[in-house]
Amino acid sequence: MTVYFHEEDLPAGVLADGPVAIDTETMGLITPRDRLCVVQISDGKGDEHLIRFAPGSDYAAPNLRAIIADPNRLKLFHFGRFDIAALQHYMGVLATPVYCTKIASRLTRTYTDRHGLKELVRELLGFDISKQQQSSDWGGPVLSDAQRDYAASDVRYLHQLKTELDVRLAREGRTALAQACFDFLPHRALLDLAGWPEADIFAHA
Ligand code: MN
Repeated sequence: MTVYFHEEDLPAGVLADGPVAIDTETMGLITPRDRLCVVQISDGKGDEHLIRFAPGSDYAAPNLRAIIADPNRLKLFHFGRFDIAALQHYMGVLATPVYCTKIASRLTRTYTDRHGLKELVRELLGFDISKQQQSSDWGGPVLSDAQRDYAASDVRYLHQLKTELDVRLAREGRTALAQACFDFLPHRALLDLAGWPEADIFAHA
């Protein structure tokens, strides 16, 4: 298990075929204001790749962009709505097709309102991950060892979580409903960026 660090793009050919887990770290939660600093990506085989973008980056990243846009490669997220919007806004690429472990958790773990990544990894996989660096400064030229560990751990377990959550979705008869949500998720992110971030457009009032 190795965490690789790159500047401005993923090297070509470092990922195996198949689904990839993706997460992002930004300067904050307001996407147009708070720039994209780091993209983490893993093919689920045990290594994680961190790609740092400098202030003023053009986010060209052709290798990373090609993977995000690849219609034959499923992208796994936890709360993908945020990451998909950030990738669309800064890189101009819409991630699709996608899978979101938070949505799958909401559709299956109806006995709890705790759908954070830490809680999911603990309950479904039995591992303890730290969220201590979640609110740290991702904008600097150097990431601390603690930041690298944290950033990598956010993509490390998504393939395993998908395996577990798919079993539960099937058990509860919600596989098709989940797929419909995943299909809509990139459009939900586009609605966020287009000016409907909080509105429920399906609501009556
Ligand atoms: Mn993260």
